[in-house]
Order: sequence, then structure tokens, then C-alpha cells
Amino acid sequence: MTTLIRILVMTLTTALAAPLAQADDEVIVYSARKEHLIKPLFDAYTQKTGVAIRYITDNEGALLARLKAEGANTPADMLMTVDAGNLWQAANEGVLASTASKVLEANIPEHLRDPENRWFGLSIRARTIVYSTDRVDPGELSTYEALADEKWRGRVCLRTSKKVYNQSLVAMMIARLGEPRTEKVVEGWVKNLATPPFSNDTKLMEAIAAGQCDVGIVNTYYFGRLQKKQPGIKLALFWPNQQDGGVHVNVSGAGITKHAKHPDAATALLEWLSTAEAQEMFAGLNMEYPANPAVEPDPIVAAWGGFKEDTINVSKAGQLQSTAVMLMDRAGYR
Ligand code: FE
Repeated sequence: MTTLIRILVMTLTTALAAPLAQADDEVIVYSARKEHLIKPLFDAYTQKTGVAIRYITDNEGALLARLKAEGANTPADMLMTVDAGNLWQAANEGVLASTASKVLEANIPEHLRDPENRWFGLSIRARTIVYSTDRVDPGELSTYEALADEKWRGRVCLRTSKKVYNQSLVAMMIARLGEPRTEKVVEGWVKNLATPPFSNDTKLMEAIAAGQCDVGIVNTYYFGRLQKKQPGIKLALFWPNQQDGGVHVNVSGAGITKHAKHPDAATALLEWLSTAEAQEMFAGLNMEYPANPAVEPDPIVAAWGGFKEDTINVSKAGQLQSTAVMLMDRAGYR
């Protein structure tokens, strides 16, 4: 082989190899989590590994529709979103691939991941009772179900049933109590409402603080945000169902897409997100709880106290979502 040909062959090989090597060093993420919650993590990962992460953020419905429309041509390697109901939906629509990983199995408890490994919870969001410290003695509180008791007539505030968080809460109640009992509970909640349901958890808590109602159900990170803004606010969290099923927990999480172009790099990123190093930041940025039980929550979050959580697999929130939606509609929960 002449030197010229050798150089030509080398150049060609390099030209072919270069873009491939580059492509292996990136992961493309579709994220329904907001940029400020994911960018610090992705930056840390890139700094550590040299793997670039490109991402777009949008709401989960738009991202799922996009993944389905793109099909095999999707550039996305990973879908990241909140609520097991949404993750279940994505898996059910067939856009996620099963990922076998000893690391993920070891780091993420079984009830916080898809039984078929198509998605994994990365942070825990507890949806619990919040009450007025002026007008409620925590000794009066016990369970989600007990908020249906007559003594709470005209004292309960709820967020709209249109929000997936409440659909998941009711779905998990159905998984635990069965449909007839859950329906009685939801009917009782509706009877006890002080005002029509709110569009978000923060407005609900502000209504309690303003004296419109005395108790409600919220995700704890919204309580954390409000507490940060108004340190003296006369509200506190209560952990219900500690004698039986435990506090309703949900997850934010992620899965590898079925048509991922960089499945190995994406799996490595997902595994890293489950490790102590990333978990602290992932949960801490939004005042959530780490999904990895070996990792301590942020001190502000830890100050709310420990609790027993519901350990029924959160995929039930997806499986029973439509049942829950119909039940809430029948019970008059808008
Ligand atoms: Fe939220």
C-alpha cells in the first residue's frame, strides 16, 4: 500500500469514526421537569463524565405526543416526567423500553419502579395532610379517610380532581381500600368542602392560612416553598395512616425510550441519577425525598419528620387512573 493510500484510508476511518464517537458521548432527554430542576444535575454529570446531555422541556402530554409521532425517528433517549400516572401512561403507549440494570434495582425500591423496568422513580413526593395550627389540634387528625367525617364539615379544602396528583391519590386508595369504600370517602370529602376545589396546592394552603378552611391535602414540596417565603405561616404537615397503609407517595422518574439512539449512554445516566451523588441534588432541588433510601433528605425536608409510606407499587396509580377519574366524577369531586 502506498503512503498516499494509507493516509486516505486513515482519513476515511477517522472521518467515519469521529461522528460516531461523538454521538456515543451524548444523551438526549425529553423532560417534563423544569429546566432549573434538571440543568444543575446534567451539568454535574457532563463535568464528571464528558457525556453531553441535550434536552428539551415541555409538559408531559406534549412530550408523549411528540415521542409517539416521531416513532423510530425520535432523537430522544430518555423521557423524564413527574407522577407515576404519567410514567405508566408513557409505558402503556409503548414509547419506553425495558431496562435491566442491577444498579437501578439496588438503588430504587421495588414499589417505586415499573414492574417491567420501563421507568424508575428518582424522587419521592409525599401527598399528605396540611392543617391550620391555629384551628386544628394534630390529635384530631388520623387518616385521609377520616377527612370524610362529619366533624370536618365546611372545613376541608382540596385541589381540583383534574390534577393527576389527586387522580393518583384516589387510584392508590382504590388499590388499598377497594372501590366502594374509596367512593364513600371521596363523597365525604366533597360534602366537607369549604370552597370549590383549587387549581393548585399553594392556593389551597393560602386559603387555610386565610381561614377559609382548616385542612387540606398537598404535596410537601409546595408546603416547603410556601414556608420558605412565609416562615411564620401557621400551617403544619400531618402524616396520615401511620397505623395502616402509610402516607401516599408518588414519584418523579424516567425511562429509556424504545427507539433510543444512545441506549447505553442513557442507561448510564439513569443509573447515575439513582446514586447517592445525584439523588441528594435531584431531590433537594425541589424539596422532595430521595427515592434511594440510603440518601438523607435535605435538612429542611427532614425537619418535617419521618413517616411510614404506602408501599403498594406506584404503577397502580396509572393502572387505576381511569377508574379513579370516573369515581371522582360520580362522587361530585370537580
Ligand atoms: Fe408539582
